[in-house]
Amino acid sequence: MLMTWSIQQRGVRRLGIDVETVYIALGSNLGDREEHLNRAIERLKATPGVAVVACSSWLETEFVGDGPEQGRFLNGVLKANTSLPPLALLGVLRALEVEAGRRSPHPRNHPRELDLDVIFYGDQEIDSRELQVPHPRWHERAFVTSPLRELGVNLDQRPRAMGTRLAHEAAKVCEQVSDWLRGGCVVGLVPTMGSLHEGHASLMRRAKAECDRVLATVFVNPLQFGPGEDFDTYPRDLERDLGVCEAAGVDTLFAPSASGMFASEFASHVGVGAAAAEMEGAVREGHFSGVATVVARLFAMTRPHRAYFGEKDAQQLVVVRRMCADLGFPVAVVACPIVREPDGLALSSRNTRLTAEDRRAAPVLYRALCAAGDRFKDGLRDRDLLVRCAQDVLATEPRCAVDYVELRRARDLAPLAAADAVCGARMLVAARFGDVRLLDNVALNDEVAP
Ligand code: AMP
Repeated sequence: MLMTWSIQQRGVRRLGIDVETVYIALGSNLGDREEHLNRAIERLKATPGVAVVACSSWLETEFVGDGPEQGRFLNGVLKANTSLPPLALLGVLRALEVEAGRRSPHPRNHPRELDLDVIFYGDQEIDSRELQVPHPRWHERAFVTSPLRELGVNLDQRPRAMGTRLAHEAAKVCEQVSDWLRGGCVVGLVPTMGSLHEGHASLMRRAKAECDRVLATVFVNPLQFGPGEDFDTYPRDLERDLGVCEAAGVDTLFAPSASGMFASEFASHVGVGAAAAEMEGAVREGHFSGVATVVARLFAMTRPHRAYFGEKDAQQLVVVRRMCADLGFPVAVVACPIVREPDGLALSSRNTRLTAEDRRAAPVLYRALCAAGDRFKDGLRDRDLLVRCAQDVLATEPRCAVDYVELRRARDLAPLAAADAVCGARMLVAARFGDVRLLDNVALNDEVAP
């Protein structure tokens, strides 16, 4: 049953203080649920600066989302007028949650005595670390939308959280990040070249779990492609990419044009030392300078606290780490594990360009690495023999043209002396299937701290 109360404005209008209408979602699935919800309403009614106007009836719903098995929720939405500024109101709600017995901080998605979320605060949009209003997922939750309807809210006229915002202009992204930083948010950056797959999504989800806001970028960086490489044929599908970002919880996707990224008079390039001239660097001259330059540009533009890179591109990871240390970017570089197809092929945007025969042949890369890994586990430590073991497997696949197989120190990919692969070793392979070049690598063992 809908409950309404006469509005007591406590004279706030007369004092010239702004009053906003707010909608607060209430939920409980621990202890005496109804008692927790009713008590929260009573406490809010007694809070100076808050005038409770109406409350929806209670709705019983199943718990949705990740988390331990738990009881059903009792949910509802309350309408109030308030003169409290958004963060002050939030402080009141958090205090009521704690008063009801909820632990603070509360483990995510665990059962709770009381959950109080600000859904709308007038028609304000707030995007700070503590508070996002309108609530980013209000429209996905029937236990919020149906009580809102009961309270007479016209949902079609309410702004939905934007999901992933798409930005093409650097100025827009800089402004957005500045807002986040002002709101005290920890910002995570996931740089990509698009044609996004589950590997990229895993980076985004990790960023979402560790940061308050996630910025992903899609930019096919011309600086890291040499003449005759696949810059023109590199797969591009921004609409699909936006969907992947939405599903992974990315807040903003930045997809600049080449001219938006590099001014026409752009002339500064980051040099990346001798280590980047080996392996990928030897096959693709200038590649890592192009990577380091665009990453430096993105870091300067977006000022992230954390940046997420895949171990799939192990040498790139080492180059970016070195650059951060050398140039003093205050960014924590986070390495994320390789995501593979069920047959072992590492996910890559370039896989879509493989012919059906080459796609069937390509898992040989992972098989070769695993064969060397097995020999390593059996005690083989001789670098040359381990490399030969992988090469022998690769040689069984005539469609595979090997560029290199290397066994390197995992930490910095420095060369290992023969028979020295005892501590933190990574085996890397690059090979061509037709005109598609694929990379893969595995760690043979973990580095043991000295
Ligand atoms: P790219 O779009 O190829 O430049 O990749 C963007 C980021 O995603 C890089 O940090 C890659 O290392 C990472 N990445 C690409 N493929 C995978 C994968 N299969 N698993 C994990 N990370 C990946």
